[in-house]
Amino acid sequence: MPGSPRADQGIGQGHPGRGDRLASAMVVPEPEPEEVVVSTKKQDAVASLGYDVFVNEAPPQDGVLPNGEPRVFSPMASTLIYGREDAVLTDPGMTLEQARVLGDWVAEKGKNLTDIFVTHGHGDHWFAAGMLAERFGARVVAGAGTIAEMGRNLAMRSVLWDKVYAGLIPPSPVTAVTVPDNRFTVEGHDLVIVEVGPTDTVDSTVLHVPDLDLVVAGDVIYNGVHMFLAQGALVGGFGPWREAIDTVAALRPRLIVAGHQNKQLDEDAERTIAETRQYLDDADELLKTAPAAVDFFLAKIERYPGYLGRTVLWAGASALYGARGQAGEDLGKALLSGWF
Ligand SMILES: [Zn+2]
Repeated sequence: MPGSPRADQGIGQGHPGRGDRLASAMVVPEPEPEEVVVSTKKQDAVASLGYDVFVNEAPPQDGVLPNGEPRVFSPMASTLIYGREDAVLTDPGMTLEQARVLGDWVAEKGKNLTDIFVTHGHGDHWFAAGMLAERFGARVVAGAGTIAEMGRNLAMRSVLWDKVYAGLIPPSPVTAVTVPDNRFTVEGHDLVIVEVGPTDTVDSTVLHVPDLDLVVAGDVIYNGVHMFLAQGALVGGFGPWREAIDTVAALRPRLIVAGHQNKQLDEDAERTIAETRQYLDDADELLKTAPAAVDFFLAKIERYPGYLGRTVLWAGASALYGARGQAGEDLGKALLSGWF
């Protein structure tokens, strides 16, 4: 079945670039021109901190898209940020199977998992949080806006998530807590929750790890995967999302882990930021010229033939076109129509 999880998926060694990235994060050499003078303190800090990414494959799903291809959800990335002993995991995924393979990957690292951080409230990023929190005895952490949105996604399980992925999603009580000043740490290294406002959902955050020049971006920045555009129908376009991208860019990260990514690609911040902006610009242009959702869908595929996650593209396009002139219950139906 396309997209069904495999036992060997997402393991670090299988990814071109993953090993390099991890090594440079761990060992640091690769001096950058502007960092010729690096303080001893910073070197020590970076040498004791590393990260790795696990990309979980999409769960199995029924149905076809308007072009006849099978519906497949987007790959989902979780980041493990670790010191010598402790570690923090981000966006732990949605299904029982995803939690199982992600949990095995985390266990292989042999670290003490202290916290699980969730970037935003969409169920695909956290429905499995409870399972992993229990397995590793970890706390679940999120921003206040994310916790509110988690509650709304939980309330929508029966009309959306459990309809699409029947029987695959574990119980998902909202147990996340906020942390003072939106900051927590792994072995003394700052992990900063940055509130960036609406993107593909109501309230988004990213996790800034200054000692790694890294931003774990959730759905604020995408990487080789179609973006979920439906929220634009509710907030009058993509202006707020562009502001969120500007906020991430202002952190001046060197590396960005996108929540939805093609695992063959690197994590260059400049490229992923530029491509995410371009995708929104293209969407604005196509919304003026493409007469219907299906035209928008096909035009995006033509412009981005290698992008993964066409089910999410279709869901977003259906919402953007279906929501035109709708209000109340009809608007709610229009926003969900493309998922089935
Ligand atoms: Zn997502």
